[in-house]
Amino acid sequence: MAAHECNHCGQRIEAGCAHCPYCGTPTPEQRDQQFAPRRARFVALFLALALFSLAMMLWLPRVLRH
Ligand SMILES: [Zn+2]
Repeated sequence: MAAHECNHCGQRIEAGCAHCPYCGTPTPEQRDQQFAPRRARFVALFLALALFSLAMMLWLPRVLRH
């Protein structure tokens, strides 16, 4: 990871810092780390729903026919 610039004040922030040492704005890296678990859970939920819908689409016509 390389050093990057603060989105708020433009100062250089060393890699691995959670906040800008000059103005205290959270770094994009830190934001990604905070939202990553939530996004992973959302994707898992969406995949489960998609699989459930697919199973229903395959299963329901067979039930209705009999
Ligand atoms: Zn800053």
